[in-house]
Amino acid sequence: MSYKLGKHLPPVNGESAPYWEGCKQGELRLQQCPSCSHIQFYPRLLCTKCSGRGLSWIAASGAGRVKSFTIVRRAVSEAYEPDVPYVIALIELAEGPTMMSNIVSCDPETVEMNMSVRVTFDPWTEEISMPLFEPA
Ligand SMILES: [Zn+2]
Repeated sequence: MSYKLGKHLPPVNGESAPYWEGCKQGELRLQQCPSCSHIQFYPRLLCTKCSGRGLSWIAASGAGRVKSFTIVRRAVSEAYEPDVPYVIALIELAEGPTMMSNIVSCDPETVEMNMSVRVTFDPWTEEISMPLFEPA
C-alpha cells in the first residue's frame, strides 16, 4: 500500500494539519471536546455532539476492530494496480470514532468482521503518512 503517483492524497488544511502531523510522528490523533468530552474523527472545527469549540487533540491507542469491509479486486486506476486485491474497511476505534482505512500485512481473504486491528503508518509523501491497520 505504498504511495504511487496518481493515488489520491488527502488535503492538509487548518483543521487536519495536527492530525497529519501526528501521523508523521506515528501517533493517531483524535479530537476531544472540552465541553462534553465527546471524541470525534475526522478533524472538524466544532464538536459534532454539542457544537462546542476549542477542541483538543488526544493520542488514540491505535486499537480498533473491523466494523465492515470490502475486498477491492479491480483497481480504480493504474496507480492502485500494484495493490489489488486490497481491503477497504471501516474501523471502530477503541475510543469510539469510526474511520475508513485499509487492512494490510495479511491475506485479504483472512479479514473478518470484528477482527482486532492496530494502526500502522505508511509514509507516502513528505507530508502524508497514511494510517493503515493490521491484525492485532
Ligand atoms: Zn461537545
